[in-house]
Amino acid sequence: MPDTTEALYARALDAADETGRLGLPPLAEWDTFPFEGVLRVRPLEPPTELDRPRTGENAADCWRCQHGEEGVVWSNDRWLLAPLTAPSGLPCVLLLQPRAHHDLDDLPAHLAADLGPLMIMVDRAISTALPDIGRVHVCRWGDGSAHFHMWFMARPARLPQLVGSFVAIWDDILPPLPEEIWRSNLNAIATELARTGGAAHRF
Ligand SMILES: [Zn+2]
Repeated sequence: MPDTTEALYARALDAADETGRLGLPPLAEWDTFPFEGVLRVRPLEPPTELDRPRTGENAADCWRCQHGEEGVVWSNDRWLLAPLTAPSGLPCVLLLQPRAHHDLDDLPAHLAADLGPLMIMVDRAISTALPDIGRVHVCRWGDGSAHFHMWFMARPARLPQLVGSFVAIWDDILPPLPEEIWRSNLNAIATELARTGGAAHRF
């Protein structure tokens, strides 16, 4: 029988202490967990009536749709690859987006068919263009901007604490890449990707 958010929330409250806090999960003991010291879980707030609206639900007020190829390092006739607006801690963080305003669950068949091969091409281009990448993590969250965007996060090799999903938090903890290294990495990835199709944009 399908569950509701209210039922999930009620179970969480049953499991919480008298202040509404749940216990720390075992992952707080993992070597990859970025924090130490005395930690506690925030009290879980009750469900809201609706999800918070995302930015750019309509193409008319969608940043990407209104800015075309701005900030893009690679494109083809249907897809764009863009970094974040400023360097962060990892060697590269890139977003793959269709030119047209879609989310994952309404991608038309031709874009859906592009996506699998393109994900692999971007992963390979990052690993080939940059030295010392342990793995490229590919993620889709989709709670911020409504325009579909798939994340590619390059994890540096040989830093055992950066293995796994906490690397998304380590990206905010590590000092931002120097601007010239960030640009050099992006240009190298775009050049490598353009060898398989599309066009690199000087960044
Ligand atoms: Zn859009």
